[in-house]
Amino acid sequence: MNPIAQFSRTYAEARAKFQSAVRAQELSVEAHGLPDRHGIDGEPLAMDVAHLGLPDASGLLVLTSGTHGIEGYCGSGCQVALLRDPVFVDAVRRARIGVLFVHAVNPHGFSHGRRVNEDNVDLNRNFRDFSQPAPPCPGYAEIHPLLLPPTWPPPEDGERRLAELQAARGERAFQAALTGGQYAFADGLFYGGLRPAWSNLTLRAVLRRHAATRERLGWIDFHTGLGPRGHGERIHAGRDLPGDLARARVWWGRDVTSFHDGSSTSAPVSGIVTHAAYDACRGLELAMIALEYGTVPLPEAFAALRADHWLHLHPTAPDAQRTAIRRQMRAAFYDEADDWKLKVYMQARKAALEAVTHLAAEYA
Ligand SMILES: [Zn+2]
Repeated sequence: MNPIAQFSRTYAEARAKFQSAVRAQELSVEAHGLPDRHGIDGEPLAMDVAHLGLPDASGLLVLTSGTHGIEGYCGSGCQVALLRDPVFVDAVRRARIGVLFVHAVNPHGFSHGRRVNEDNVDLNRNFRDFSQPAPPCPGYAEIHPLLLPPTWPPPEDGERRLAELQAARGERAFQAALTGGQYAFADGLFYGGLRPAWSNLTLRAVLRRHAATRERLGWIDFHTGLGPRGHGERIHAGRDLPGDLARARVWWGRDVTSFHDGSSTSAPVSGIVTHAAYDACRGLELAMIALEYGTVPLPEAFAALRADHWLHLHPTAPDAQRTAIRRQMRAAFYDEADDWKLKVYMQARKAALEAVTHLAAEYA
């Protein structure tokens, strides 16, 4: 199995490779179609789900990709390669556990090359308790008009003002204000939405169906865009509960980072996808990480996100500008070089095999 060949250039190709890898294991794909929307080439969009291993095993490993749309190129490649990796498939069968593959949590963003969903919502800020008031975002409100000015590229005086604010607040506080999740600017960046998105409701239903009766659950959510190129940072993706962080460190190593204690490259965020496990599977022992792979330096990733949001607000932008911004997004969240793909897969495989070992050991 050549891992590099399992990665794709389009959502449609990724979906076909996933379906074919699932069928090669004589498994079936559960397709949850996104209603009333289409992909960039008019193709249907879906959250595809497959289950490998024992359906009633007490231990379950959940693998999700494309929570952030365009980041799905990375996670899809890893999922397809794992399905085609005899060492991984054998390990799952011998451990007598189940593995739930969720391909394209956000199929619209995946196909259209955006990090957000069909309604400009950052799904990894959407899994909050909407019966509670939204957290305020004064830090974001101040920079919103500077982030998305009427013209692009952004005017120099605005960029200067942004740099001053960044210097005054400090790098880390600025990142937290920008990326932490905001619920007031529907056209803005890192917007968490006002209600559970389709992907949120669909993923929760998938978890209720496949995970509700398990006793132990491991979860790896694949991401890109933060950290050194090709390095997979394992970021604790559970709540700020000492037991859950400790379990993640037992499974995946002491260098599992956490935004709760400031050790991760990601700033604290609200409403992340994996928190659905706490509602869908009560009483479970949980160990969850985001596997976050570096692509380009952080300022380049932010610049790409701003340009993408600006383009979304200016659909009549010239073709050349549209093409350039789409290319910029792609480079910020997916690296098409073979060495990157190989490095990414080897770390995914290691993390997945470690989870299988711990789910099996605790089963015994
Ligand atoms: Zn992400």
